[in-house]
Amino acid sequence: MTSKNLDRRRLLTTSLAFGGLAGLGACAAPGARTAPALGLSAQDVPPRLMPIRAHADRLFDITVCLRPFRAKGPRIETEMMGDTRVVHNYGHGGSGWSLSWGSAAMAVGQAMINRPKSIAVIGCGAIGLTSAITAQRQGAAVTIYARDQLPQTRSARATGGWTPDSRIALADVAGPAFAETWEQMARTSFKIYRQYLGLPGNPVQWTDRYSLSDTPFREASEPPGSLDFAHYNDRIRDLTPRAQDIPPAATPFPVKYVRRSETMQFNIANYSHTLMTDFFLAGGKFVRQEFRDPRELTQLAEKTVINCPGYAAREWWNDNSIVPVRGQIAWLIPQPEVRYALSYRDVSTWSRTDGIVVQAVDGGDMKGYDNGREVADRAEADKAVGVLEELYSRFPRA
Ligand SMILES: Cc1cc2nc3c(=O)[nH]c(=O)nc-3n(C[C@H](O)[C@H](O)[C@H](O)COP(=O)(O)OP(=O)(O)OC[C@H]3O[C@@H](n4cnc5c(N)ncnc54)[C@H](O)[C@@H]3O)c2cc1C
Repeated sequence: MTSKNLDRRRLLTTSLAFGGLAGLGACAAPGARTAPALGLSAQDVPPRLMPIRAHADRLFDITVCLRPFRAKGPRIETEMMGDTRVVHNYGHGGSGWSLSWGSAAMAVGQAMINRPKSIAVIGCGAIGLTSAITAQRQGAAVTIYARDQLPQTRSARATGGWTPDSRIALADVAGPAFAETWEQMARTSFKIYRQYLGLPGNPVQWTDRYSLSDTPFREASEPPGSLDFAHYNDRIRDLTPRAQDIPPAATPFPVKYVRRSETMQFNIANYSHTLMTDFFLAGGKFVRQEFRDPRELTQLAEKTVINCPGYAAREWWNDNSIVPVRGQIAWLIPQPEVRYALSYRDVSTWSRTDGIVVQAVDGGDMKGYDNGREVADRAEADKAVGVLEELYSRFPRA
């Protein structure tokens, strides 16, 4: 085939995948026409993919937060302080949203041992709120004591992807017992997320994620000197579909290699609102309070406390096993018509209802490790948006 023919074929299939049927008989479904030529079955041809309007002046916010990483994995254990039972539930690294329900189930299981009528939860991030709701569902009256409500917490600054084994532990430190615990947490969470699909505002949804590359895909490898972060996803392979290589010509992406996976996404603004509403509707109370000394917990009216302070456990519980892993998000103005997530040249995006999340992911799991600087880096944001701007400048015109 001549390069002219190739170009024409590419243009043809691209314009079909892109929704451009003019001149080809708009009565035919795009999948029906392109599928055989592309070696894809009709149902696998990507839908129309709209470009992200990636320009630095469309950035409306840059947020930074610290993942609460523990080499051993999250701390879910009971500690008695006088007659107060304190159940810790913190240290979920880059997986707090994903594992929240499963982790809550374990912590609440420990808290409910003596069937308390009322429970205090410290913290109102992803972990505190899901612990509180889980305890309510088991019949306890719950009061959350926290400095901030969910929209002001670090949890609200997360990406919002189903990433249950992201910076969750170090393989050699956590050991095989934690792998079992992790799997149980991941499966429980996944099941409960099912209940939040299809609600108004799409708090949780499935999304296609396209990995793009100019060179063949290789097994992800960490840079030399990286720590041995645990990866357990193989244990739950059955939960999500396999990634699929897609002929680039079936998409408008101007790259040589395209891989598509399907994953769950949390639209954190809507999802947080849904959780807060559920908590209050079930009779939950919120008390704004900042704790400075662990002994203050013994002065609460509730004698069972679930402690979910996230990264702050390092300061106020003196838990130095928590290491900060800095992460930054640059926010592009929302584009509801962009219905996919993307990764390309160490930049990752998610199209959420509250904005397009843009993140630099160079450096793998070590990126931001032991970096507690919670301030925005504009240059990092501009560089990441620049990669997207260049990609979309080569997008075909619709
Ligand atoms: C950039 C980035 C991206 C991420 N992306 C994802 C993702 O895609 N998927 C995923 O699953 N996870 C992700 N995570 C990880 C996830 O955000 C965390 O694991 C999770 O937010 C931890 O929640 P938490 O409730 O433990 O802590 P927090 O959200 O920090 O909540 C702590 C709560 O405790 C309260 N508190 C703290 N100290 C005190 C005190 N002394 N007195 C009173 N109250 C106190 C706070 O006010 C707050 O209410 C990401 C993290 C980052 C930084």
